[in-house]
Amino acid sequence: SLPQVVIVGRPNVGKSSLFNWLAGRRLAIVDNVAGVTRDRMTYLMQWRDRYFEIVDTGGIGINDVDDLTDEIDQQINIAIDSADLILFVVDTRDGILPLDQEVARRLRHVNKPIVLVANKTDESHMDHEADQFYQLGRGMLVPVSTLQNRNKDDLLNVIADRL
Ligand code: GDP
Ligand code: MG
Repeated sequence: SLPQVVIVGRPNVGKSSLFNWLAGRRLAIVDNVAGVTRDRMTYLMQWRDRYFEIVDTGGIGINDVDDLTDEIDQQINIAIDSADLILFVVDTRDGILPLDQEVARRLRHVNKPIVLVANKTDESHMDHEADQFYQLGRGMLVPVSTLQNRNKDDLLNVIADRL
């Protein structure tokens, strides 16, 4: 089966926005290449010569997860079970919040490649603010903005290089 690129992060950092942005569509549409399973949304991607599936684990409203740490646990479990690469999404406008540290803590012992995606880095002068997220973990950090369409090719190159 295809490599799985699993998107994790606390609510509101822009996981679904990232999914739709990478998929190149405004809304993830359910068709032959996009699918909703019970707990995740997937989309088949091609970049350069690589094919992979991106997976948005963030509550799609089918499971009624009211406890935020339960939702994070569920995301991490999907990542542990099925990810070949994990996109750990954070929010440069908010900076590091306790729930980000919780996600980082749960990922610490997950032995899979992780890319930190600093979303909402809407302007280039904010790039240095994204550097704070290095303290959340190991691996690459890519500042992006789904809103301003910043650094999509950079992120896709980083993903493709690590699959
Ligand atoms: P999720 O809960 O992690 O799936 O987050 P969503 O994708 O639902 O996005 C949460 C909010 O962040 C929405 O209001 C988005 O419009 C906003 N958002 C997403 N990406 C960006 C971005 O690059 N810049 C800014 N300023 N806002 C964004
Ligand atoms: Mg979402």
